[in-house]
Amino acid sequence: MSNRVLVVGGVAGGASVAARARRLDESAEITMFEKGPHVSFSNCALPFHLSGIVENSEDLVLMNPDKFAKQYNIDARTNSEVMKINREEKTVTVKNHANGEEYTEAYDKLFLSPGAKPIMPPVEGIDSPHVFTVRNVADIRKLQNYLQNEDVKDIAVVGAGYIGIEVVENLKHAGKDVSLIEAQNQVMAPFDVDMAQLLHKELHDQGVNLILNDAIVKIDEDTVELKAGKKVPAKAVVMAVGVAPETGLAKQAGLELGETGAIKVDHNYQTNDENIYAVGDAIEVYHRQTRQRMKLPLAGPAQRQARAAAGHMYNLPHQNTGVIGSSVIQVFDLNAASTGVNEKCAKDTGIQYDFVYIIPADKVGLMPESNPLHFKLLYEVPTGKILGAQAIGKGNVDKRIDIIAAMITKDATLEDLKELELCYSVLYGTAKDVVNFAALVGLNLLNGVYKQVTVPEVRELVENDAFIIDAREKDEYENGHLINAVNIPLSEFRERLDEIPTDQPVYVHCRSGQRSYNFCMALQNKGYHNVYNMSGSYLGICQHEYYNDQITGREKIVTEYNFN
Ligand SMILES: Cc1cc2nc3c(=O)[nH]c(=O)nc-3n(C[C@H](O)[C@H](O)[C@H](O)COP(=O)(O)OP(=O)(O)OC[C@H]3O[C@@H](n4cnc5c(N)ncnc54)[C@H](O)[C@@H]3O)c2cc1C
Repeated sequence: MSNRVLVVGGVAGGASVAARARRLDESAEITMFEKGPHVSFSNCALPFHLSGIVENSEDLVLMNPDKFAKQYNIDARTNSEVMKINREEKTVTVKNHANGEEYTEAYDKLFLSPGAKPIMPPVEGIDSPHVFTVRNVADIRKLQNYLQNEDVKDIAVVGAGYIGIEVVENLKHAGKDVSLIEAQNQVMAPFDVDMAQLLHKELHDQGVNLILNDAIVKIDEDTVELKAGKKVPAKAVVMAVGVAPETGLAKQAGLELGETGAIKVDHNYQTNDENIYAVGDAIEVYHRQTRQRMKLPLAGPAQRQARAAAGHMYNLPHQNTGVIGSSVIQVFDLNAASTGVNEKCAKDTGIQYDFVYIIPADKVGLMPESNPLHFKLLYEVPTGKILGAQAIGKGNVDKRIDIIAAMITKDATLEDLKELELCYSVLYGTAKDVVNFAALVGLNLLNGVYKQVTVPEVRELVENDAFIIDAREKDEYENGHLINAVNIPLSEFRERLDEIPTDQPVYVHCRSGQRSYNFCMALQNKGYHNVYNMSGSYLGICQHEYYNDQITGREKIVTEYNFN
């Protein structure tokens, strides 16, 4: 008798389960239910319709029921919502939204991939017709039509995660005036707040009205009101404060939920009912580094889970490696990627760590498109095990972060990363790649070869009149410097040692940390013991300070900013 496979949800996880099941079993009867009007659309490309990068919204739909039937013999039913799971009878109750009819279908195995729904905070006005979310093709069409028909100019996007930022960027490209409102003190939670300053600067420079540390309390027809009392002009509001797993069906069926509130699954993505699997945004996953359960609503994990779950139905074993959380986003002219544990996560979970922040060129400096790449690498202390990384720059940050993701998955250390042999040509990178370079710096710190202070510590040093040496050449210094730094170029310091005190800490920076590292090593060789390299150096300091200087009007610690 053929295997009756039912799938709830017809997009990332659901469609992958159905297609994999077909590859494994030509005789299976596979039915996929999708409550919306489309199956297999590109969620990740939705925001790009707002700018016209994806011109036709039809292009967002990758497959239709007809193709599923012809190519894969899969019965894909749209406008078909699974309302109930009847575990005793092994059936589901389905509502056909096209004609209002309800019917049941029997299963041998049932797969749940219902995804996650946008969180809507209980704010006055949240149900108004000019408030939107972005989850599917119908949503993006509705938003786009409204913006065009009502000729909307001012838009507020609430929530600065990757969906919020992608929506903001595409709306700006479409010529809109956009405010981005975020309750936390930074955008993009996977990044540490120091790295997020680069993204704040970019959003600000691109004309986005970025508002941090504030939340909406009321939505009116023309404005949104913030907790701090400010009113922001908004004829349309896009809510992107996060998503919550769709657990309604699972709850109704008595399936177990985990500590995070998402569906609990085992190694093979089976729920507490062995005939029901669950995958995708609706489930709880295991973070291999923190050893904690978490939610990770990303497409890559959903696809892997779908393949593994479908395979398990046919007794194919798989290795469940857990998750580490890798992602990448474009923020106007910058690319930003991250993987693994960040500082906040390490602190929260008690992981002992230190980190490297370097700003090497993403490719050989004399090449036309060489740009600084801001790279932060976290490692465990004292083992040197690689914990995570964040990269921001104009170049290919994803390549570097993917390398680190692979290293984390293999439990690699700084020594492994230092020795990693990578491809190189001047057009693509540097002979010692950013990631090799970060490992070398990390090993130096771990082995106590030299000491560093970090960019967020610099303001206090300046305010306390610490002894800071600017090791750049005179012309670079004159183009902008820390207000109280002494300019002693690396090329001159051996003749000017008498200017460097031995009875107090000495902090050294240059443009990006390379010359100052050499300076520190030389001073140490000459008997100085209280010497600190300022990681990130002038480029990092300027990026870190800029946005808050603009927003708060506080006193600058630099005479002029340098960003290149
Ligand atoms: C705007 C946007 C941009 C994104 N960008 C990225 C990105 O760049 N990178 C990345 O990794 N991830 C991205 N994601 C996340 C990614 O799309 C999700 O992690 C992934 O789609 C999850 O797959 P899923 O199958 O669990 O859920 P989904 O793909 O959301 O599919 C779930 C489907 O189930 C249907 N459904 C729910 N309940 C029922 C029911 N009872 N009966 C029938 N059907 C039901 C829903 O209508 C929905 O269509 C983005 C998401 C959005 C919304």
